[in-house]
Amino acid sequence: MKKLTLIIPCYNESSPLIDTYNEVKRVLNDQELKKKYSYEILFIDDGSVDNTLSVINDLAAIDETVKYISFTRNFGKEAGMLAGLKHCNGDIVIIIDADLQHPPHLILEMVHHYEQGYDQVIARRSRKGEKFSRKWITKTYYRLINTLMEVELGDGMGDFRLLSRRAVDSLLAMPEYNRFSKGLFSWIGFEKKVIEYENQERISGESKWSFLSLLNYAIDGLISFNSKPLRMLIYLGLLIMFLNLLYIGFSFVNIVLFGIDLPGYFTMISAILLLGGIQLTSLGVIGEYVGRIFYEVKRRPAFIIDKTNIPLK
Ligand code: UDP
Ligand code: MG
Repeated sequence: MKKLTLIIPCYNESSPLIDTYNEVKRVLNDQELKKKYSYEILFIDDGSVDNTLSVINDLAAIDETVKYISFTRNFGKEAGMLAGLKHCNGDIVIIIDADLQHPPHLILEMVHHYEQGYDQVIARRSRKGEKFSRKWITKTYYRLINTLMEVELGDGMGDFRLLSRRAVDSLLAMPEYNRFSKGLFSWIGFEKKVIEYENQERISGESKWSFLSLLNYAIDGLISFNSKPLRMLIYLGLLIMFLNLLYIGFSFVNIVLFGIDLPGYFTMISAILLLGGIQLTSLGVIGEYVGRIFYEVKRRPAFIIDKTNIPLK
């Protein structure tokens, strides 16, 4: 019999957790599914400061399919997912949020597609019913991101997905410390199947994302994933050099023909400000890469486990 692992990263999710548990349990106890798969529900307590861990412990006491890994502090969702992937032993792994924003009933459909041979089944949040302007902005955003990145990111495709054992092992073969899962999922390739669901409101508790953290996440993704921004700096530098050469040629001819006449206050200030800005931004981008190299070479673990009820690999 094959095994299905459900990974649920949790950070301060004590309020929605029981509902989520009941809901996924109902789905996993589906008659057809149970005939073919045994399952485990692996909660990753990402250093919650509320009583998430005691809720999980209570569940584990009455249900032996409930497993957990608890971190010593908050390491972030990426670390949580990594811990789950690393220490689970399912033949199929599904990652799902703890707040029921990812409809659990899709699990059955995902498994169905897995059986047809897909190594990744991605649940995509649709933008049905959203305003046209909003749709347009996200579409443009993704078009931009995708030209800047080596891998293709899909709108609405988050972490809610099924991975086959092969796919999980491929993900684990990438040892990087700075993990940008959206990119990694895409990078490993494999045949993918996308299914859609409608956006769900969080049932309780609150989102851990602010506008600023989303912006930081976007920059992280862009920079930690490839070196295209560096390449673009080279092009930008070349472009400015080219424009400068034109300008110098133009000024030279002007001087030869008409002599020096203009007080170059405006041109000088503009050049200083523009170039200064570009240089600072470029330094920032390079700094980001250096910073990342710094973190990578330290080879720190991405998380530290405090308590668990599963054998660690
Ligand atoms: N999460 C986590 N560690 C964190 C932040 C979030 O494990 O540091 C989990 C959180 O408990 C939830 C999932 O990641 O299960 C998605 O978080 P959230 O609902 O806050 O994100 P949103 O749905 O608003 O994008
Ligand atoms: Mg959420």
